[in-house]
Amino acid sequence: MRFATRAIHAGIEPDPTTGAIMTPVYLTSTYVQEAPGKHKGYEYSRSDHPTRAVLERNLAALEGVEYGLAFASGLAAENTILNLLQAGDHVLATQDLYGGTYRLFQRVWAKFGLEFSFVSGEDPDEVRRALKSNTKLLWIETPSNPLLNIVGIRALSEVAHERGVLVVVDNTFATPYLQRPIELGADIVVHSTTKYLGGHSDVVGGALCVKDRAIYEQLKFYQNAVGAVPGPLDCFLVLRGIKTLALRMRQHCENAQRIAEYLAQHPEVERVLYPGLPTHPGHALAKRQMDGFGGMVSLVLKGGMERALRFMRATRIFKLAESLGGVESLMCHPATMTHASIPPEERARIGISDTLIRLSVGIEDAEDLIEDIEQALQASR
Ligand SMILES: *Cc1c(COP(=O)(O)O)cnc(C)c1O
Repeated sequence: MRFATRAIHAGIEPDPTTGAIMTPVYLTSTYVQEAPGKHKGYEYSRSDHPTRAVLERNLAALEGVEYGLAFASGLAAENTILNLLQAGDHVLATQDLYGGTYRLFQRVWAKFGLEFSFVSGEDPDEVRRALKSNTKLLWIETPSNPLLNIVGIRALSEVAHERGVLVVVDNTFATPYLQRPIELGADIVVHSTTKYLGGHSDVVGGALCVKDRAIYEQLKFYQNAVGAVPGPLDCFLVLRGIKTLALRMRQHCENAQRIAEYLAQHPEVERVLYPGLPTHPGHALAKRQMDGFGGMVSLVLKGGMERALRFMRATRIFKLAESLGGVESLMCHPATMTHASIPPEERARIGISDTLIRLSVGIEDAEDLIEDIEQALQASR
């Protein structure tokens, strides 16, 4: 089956008892056993849950692997990966990371003796040199947040595997519709299903997808042992969102490309970061490893902080909010919102300036979105 068909059908069977075509939301914490230990595969809903099981099968199929695990949030999924490690282990990560991932590394796990360091990821030799004898994970985010850098999953996976290092890819921005990291050599894919997979800004969730059974078994152990599982209704909402993923992603890509091209020729805009623009340094690589360039566009406005703040107050359709990947267009100011947890010196070093604005381009009519940006640019001059 091809992607759009898999999104709607993979892992999903009509309910055997009623024929209901939609996956039932089982609001139950426990399951009656015929005799001690004799049950239908479910004992307690933290360990396994029928609505969640359908979502997990569907997620795995989207990434083209056997095993999926669903979590209460993207960070809960990430936290479960870090549970695989021991004090003294080292994680090497690409430097332009989701702010919450950075916080999870530096403010939570560093306390327990995990070591973290960061590389740009653009040059595989630089990554090879940055691997240490105690490195256990290479953590990649591509396209990255908020700078939309592209790093080569295949090349970096080869470098990591030479040294027996597992490769994690945060595939939240691309979604499996545009990029399937495990096909490119990665070991574990992590998602915030809150974003494009859910797609309607109405649920928080996370997921892991893995190919290798032994790694899956360990992650499954920690999913149950730590317990950050999603509720049944949340699983239903993510499943429902995924049904239209292919359709939505096509429109997100088309709208984002048009907006990026409009911004690129605008005299009030200093820089546009979008992998779909031929001027983007990662354009050729993105073309090879992705099936489209996604719905996220970042721009650097001319002028200072004040101008950026005026612009963000002046849009009408684009709403100022954290998060991304919903059908509606959002904008955010990384320096004061999503990336406020990164120290200012570190932000400056990695290129998150005070006039950087990140757009999550929705699936509204592109003309309306462009008119909205145009009037806000005028009003904020
Ligand atoms: C939102 C996000 C996360 C964290 O997910 P939550 O569901 O908010 O916990 C991780 N990585 C990326 C790239 C994200 O955008």
